[in-house]
Amino acid sequence: MTIQPVTPDPAITEDLIAEGRKAFDLDRAHVFHSWSAQRKISPMTILRAEGPHVWDGEGRRLIDFSSQMVNTNIGHSHPKVIAAIQDQAARIATIAPAHVNDARSEAARLVTDLAPGDLNHVFFTNGGADAVEHAIRMARLHTGRHKVLSAYRSYHGGTDLAVNVTGDARRFDADRSAAGVVRFMPPYPYRSYFHAQDDRQETERALEHLEQVIQLEGAQNIAALILESVPGTAGIYVPPAGYMAGVRELTRKYGVMFIADEVMVGFGRTGEWFAVDHWDMEPDLMTFAKGVNSGYVPLGGVAISDAVYETFAERVYQGGLTYSGHPLACAAAVATINAMKDEGMVENAARVGREVIGPRLREIGDRHPSVGDVRGLGAFWAVELVRDRATKEPLAAYGGSSPEMNELIGECKRLGLLPFANYNRIHVAPPLNTPDEVLREGLDILDQALEVADRHAAG
Ligand code: PLP
Repeated sequence: MTIQPVTPDPAITEDLIAEGRKAFDLDRAHVFHSWSAQRKISPMTILRAEGPHVWDGEGRRLIDFSSQMVNTNIGHSHPKVIAAIQDQAARIATIAPAHVNDARSEAARLVTDLAPGDLNHVFFTNGGADAVEHAIRMARLHTGRHKVLSAYRSYHGGTDLAVNVTGDARRFDADRSAAGVVRFMPPYPYRSYFHAQDDRQETERALEHLEQVIQLEGAQNIAALILESVPGTAGIYVPPAGYMAGVRELTRKYGVMFIADEVMVGFGRTGEWFAVDHWDMEPDLMTFAKGVNSGYVPLGGVAISDAVYETFAERVYQGGLTYSGHPLACAAAVATINAMKDEGMVENAARVGREVIGPRLREIGDRHPSVGDVRGLGAFWAVELVRDRATKEPLAAYGGSSPEMNELIGECKRLGLLPFANYNRIHVAPPLNTPDEVLREGLDILDQALEVADRHAAG
């Protein structure tokens, strides 16, 4: 059955659409957008957002396979979280970080309770990038070392240090190689940097390479290794078996702090509370944001191990933020985590990955010549698009877009799907509680839309 273009939802009034048009004009006149050439964009207006859906400026309902910036893990407008924010606003809307407040204390208890190992302390931030900045500062002060290892094809945030630590092309305009960062090649079995024939070889060779980098840089100078547990925006590269355990072993061997960046994958995205849980890893420091409260109010943080905490038990930690542990954000986190537990969202993410998204995407991948690779886990999947499966030539160059990718994204939206796109990839990252029938509907749309990409692929 051919899926028809999505038409405006009659529940969206003409007045609301008019409001949206006014907002669009003001946006174009006054709002400066991230990661964009300002005059070249035409951002989508959102009039309404509920559960796994958003409504665009014309009142069309789209299935949200992006979870926005991969943060609305509980979907849009969850009533329990909205009520918690409203209650907190009515009681204590804001308070300085120096004062105790029950929302922050309870959020810290919940996070440390879920976090692996002895990550028993939390420093709250406003988002992911500042969590990364503080985790690195803590690691440097704890070890007395300066250098930081990070992977190519990674993203760690848009502030100065975080973007310098980033291994993705988005760092190019800000990268001054001035942050003591040394990058290493990550495992990427589909386009192996190590000429590996299988996952076992990829793991072995990637670890051998990493150890050489550590030795050649001088382990005594390396404070931390920061790694996304599953690299996200840069491509959803699920590490091959044995890699993460090997990284942990190397960091222990050389006294390097292991910082797990769980900003995108934390709080259930991959079907475990934290992606490191797939490999039973215990980081020294762990950054989180996004899913901690689904982004209903900005919040991030660093979960800190007992050993790192001890460094600052008698010595002042020079670092802080006016809004560290903001009560509205923390109340939202408490309500989010409790809703996720009560409604079994993390288990559901694991199930839909196994039973719904994974099998369907693999089947889609087999049929469409434009699909080079399908990979992922839980509610976190990448479809990598190519012009030719034999040469693996990407449908958009690294660090850029292409008319063909834009056409594919446009087709998805036309049929009622909001995808997450990056370079030559479409990511499937819906809210963890998206009903199966909505997932199937979205995957059907993607299946049909890919015919547009197939026209540019050999075979
Ligand atoms: N780290 C990772 C893995 C991320 O995916 C992101 C954002 O996408 C960040 C850090 C930065 O987070 P924020 O945008 O909240 O500063």
